[in-house]
Amino acid sequence: MEFAAFAERAAEIEATAADLEIVSLVRDLFADADDDLDTVARFVQGRVFPAHESTTLDVGPNLCYEAIARAAGHNVAADDVEDRVAGVGDVGDVAADYDFGGQQGLGAFAGDGPDGLTVGEVESELRALAAAAGSGSRDRKLDLLFGLFNRCSPPEARYLARIVLSEMRIGVGEGTVRDAVAEAFDVPVAAVERALQVTNDYGLVATVARDEGEAGLGDLNLEVGRPVQAMLAQAGTVADAIEAWETVAVETKYDGARVQVHYDGDEVALFSRNMEDVTDPLPEVVDFVDEHLSVPAILDGEVVAVDDDGEPLPFQEVLRRFRRKHDVAKAREDVEVRLWAFDCLHADGEDLLDAPLRDRHDRLSSILDARVATVATAADPDGIADIETRALEAGHEGIMLKDPDSTYSPGRRGKEWLKRKPDVETLDLVVTGAEWGEGRRAEFLGTFELSVRAGPDDFETIGKVATGITDEELAELTELLEPRIRVEDGKAVDLEPGVVFEVGYEEIQTSPTYSSGYALRFPRYLGVREDKDVADADTLERVERLADGS
Ligand code: AMP
Repeated sequence: MEFAAFAERAAEIEATAADLEIVSLVRDLFADADDDLDTVARFVQGRVFPAHESTTLDVGPNLCYEAIARAAGHNVAADDVEDRVAGVGDVGDVAADYDFGGQQGLGAFAGDGPDGLTVGEVESELRALAAAAGSGSRDRKLDLLFGLFNRCSPPEARYLARIVLSEMRIGVGEGTVRDAVAEAFDVPVAAVERALQVTNDYGLVATVARDEGEAGLGDLNLEVGRPVQAMLAQAGTVADAIEAWETVAVETKYDGARVQVHYDGDEVALFSRNMEDVTDPLPEVVDFVDEHLSVPAILDGEVVAVDDDGEPLPFQEVLRRFRRKHDVAKAREDVEVRLWAFDCLHADGEDLLDAPLRDRHDRLSSILDARVATVATAADPDGIADIETRALEAGHEGIMLKDPDSTYSPGRRGKEWLKRKPDVETLDLVVTGAEWGEGRRAEFLGTFELSVRAGPDDFETIGKVATGITDEELAELTELLEPRIRVEDGKAVDLEPGVVFEVGYEEIQTSPTYSSGYALRFPRYLGVREDKDVADADTLERVERLADGS
């Protein structure tokens, strides 16, 4: 396809506002794209390479302005281009305003203007540009880009500049391309969608839809070495999870950075959440996978930085490592990173995207013999709260709640995965009672009765908290509260009000169980408010307001 024809279509699409009309125009563009369909399907979104490829042009605005200036003539400087872009707000409009084609040097064509640039040529020149590396690469990139601009008519220059800077802005998103492929080649949208999920390659999917139809799309599968988008989570509560599913898969939420592991039985490749290749900066993860993964596979997981004692460090440490290009060995000495795998998308030749999470978990533990994420199933809030406490005790961020029956949908942020929402509000409540623990914890007070202030010396109960407390904290709390015991009745003790706990919760409900008339759903101990005494604790009035949502 002539690049001029592509530019003309792009201009038409840009001038169209209605989504459905845009889809029709893109459909026609695809139908006419012939051999260049794969490139056209990317260019139309302002992409040069498939999303799964790590190749980048590595051309910043300055280099682009310089190439435009050079093609525009002797009396135009890169600064002039930059000033005009700042004024107009769009590099494409500025590029289209110059008269290219008469300049001396590489790619100049005797001053007679545009000379039939094709989409394929643009793509191969841009690939050559991306491949330029090492010393002199900037000059080489500049020469190549100048050569392209020099052969452009104004509309071609407009879209070349935008493609180069990934700012296509013609109103074509991923959904438009998906629908246009379906319409152009008469295949179901769902088949296109699935094929996109497993390949992450709009060009490939468009070409297969045209040449092999629905059956061809169905034959596209995951490929080890080709990253797919990560499945994402929504914020949610324990109540949401329990209401939605019979049992809940509760996983530790690791505080690091997402990594997709690809192992073909020989080589390991690691990709970040935006599908950048991060294999080189993470040598200890590569070694780990080599040693512990038994079959070719694609795994999903989190890479966490740890200190000398193996305790998790803040996630910024991992991101720092991701960016590390040089001296990785030194970085590795400073801070170790570890993989925790929590999902398995492919194992030993078999795609598992459509398998339920519980089966994917089983498969994961059968092929990886270390650092598989902790997963437990629970059906009740207390069970979940215990797992959460253990995860927090181990220094992790918290928990993820997942539907054990759910399939893996790349790129989807659905309700199948919930990250437990942090408590929005907390209450400062007076501890008015407690119970002695059992077994290992018989020496300690646990299960603390909490009250709100209803008057100067009037405390009304609102709930009990037993979760979120470590053994060490239990010992400290016992020491703090034991002197306040007024009455003991079996295991239960009545306490002189004096200590205030900060407590998180998911919801306040009216309830006959407690004397305040309210109860907290999923209360969690957050700490002692040593700076507060009972007169500063939260009042029944505030609880009433919170319960009303006002
Ligand atoms: P957030 O970054 O707060 O949106 O939380 C989602 C992120 O948590 C994911 O993208 C992962 O990087 C990370 N994460 C940590 N542990 C898990 C897990 N067990 N399951 C899924 N995501 C996890």
